[in-house]
Amino acid sequence: MSPLDWIAAKLDSLEQTGLQRRRRNVRPLPEGRCQIGEQTLWNFSTNDYLGLSGDVRLQEAANRAIADSGLGARASPLVSGRTPWHVELEQEIARLKQTSSALLFPSGYAANLGTIPALVSTDDVVFCDRLNHASLIDGCRLSGARLRVYPHSDLETLRRELIKCDADCRRLIVTDSLFSMDGDHAPLPELAKLAEEFGAMLLVDEAHATGIYGAQGGGLLEAAGVQFDGLITMGTLSKALGAQGGFVAGSQELIDWLWNSARTQIYSTALSIPVCAAATEAIRLVRAEPERRQRLLDMSGRLQDDLRAQGWNIPRNVHGPIIPIIVGDALQAVTLAARLEENGILVASIRPPTVPRQSARLRISLSAVHPTAGVQVLLAKLGELRSLE
Ligand SMILES: *Cc1c(COP(=O)(O)O)cnc(C)c1O
Repeated sequence: MSPLDWIAAKLDSLEQTGLQRRRRNVRPLPEGRCQIGEQTLWNFSTNDYLGLSGDVRLQEAANRAIADSGLGARASPLVSGRTPWHVELEQEIARLKQTSSALLFPSGYAANLGTIPALVSTDDVVFCDRLNHASLIDGCRLSGARLRVYPHSDLETLRRELIKCDADCRRLIVTDSLFSMDGDHAPLPELAKLAEEFGAMLLVDEAHATGIYGAQGGGLLEAAGVQFDGLITMGTLSKALGAQGGFVAGSQELIDWLWNSARTQIYSTALSIPVCAAATEAIRLVRAEPERRQRLLDMSGRLQDDLRAQGWNIPRNVHGPIIPIIVGDALQAVTLAARLEENGILVASIRPPTVPRQSARLRISLSAVHPTAGVQVLLAKLGELRSLE
């Protein structure tokens, strides 16, 4: 008997229900492909929406920074880890997000975990969309604030909850902007109006939208023209920007406060130097090459039309690089993904607890560097599988 024996039973039960997650070894290749073992596949399961993670200009920027200052930041940002590369990147982020200031975190997950508890605590209330990303939910829990979960994008329920809540405490609404498992958008102008009406803060997680929407590629807040005093924006450098790390953007006071109080950036080593240099270059490319995001959004619109024509269940309000095909049963989603993989196509199957029960799905994510031929292969194979169902 070992005190760890319970783990085998837990793993067994995951296996039985199709919820066991396996590790695999995936080598990235150009044009949104990858290699697993001997097989080369079209990879429709990354968050590399603009294909920047393989862009030679990011590599060159990283190499220049390494040649100048080496690899690691050597300390937490508060101590001595904040280098000229960190400062420059924060300035680029603030410019992209049209805010006065920005602050780096080790990851987007760490940004949410550090920021929410810096904004609200036990006497306060936080309002959370039911489909928010796990990092937002974990941040809410860690804060100790009373948690009010409202049904997905349900403004009426949110309004009722805001009315019920006493006006003395701090109130914070948190939402994804592009929902990562559903591919739809939060009603940002309406959420901002509600927040203003009730004097609440609004934290918008633009992890999947940064680089994809808006004239400058700033995200969905930019595209919707939403700006007000209580707004806090966060995002990641690890998706469309092709690098690594998280950030918060907002007023100078907000950023000064997070610098002094957000524990996930105080007690963690600063991002590595080449990562900062590469992310800075990525933001410049996003601004300079809007054709990447245009191609991505055009591809997504066409693929959704074609998949619906094949009879797949794609939710109506999907806009952007993430296209969910709702399957329902977890084992069936896993089986479909396995059939695709045998045919050289990598698509994620997303199962509970990441999504609600009986809403397992295939999640196609497109990249601007996928050639049309690759998308055609995906479409043809899904068409075949559909006709077998
Ligand atoms: C991916 C993601 C994060 C976490 O970002 P990382 O930089 O990968 O840690 C946070 N929020 C949302 C909505 C995400 O999709």
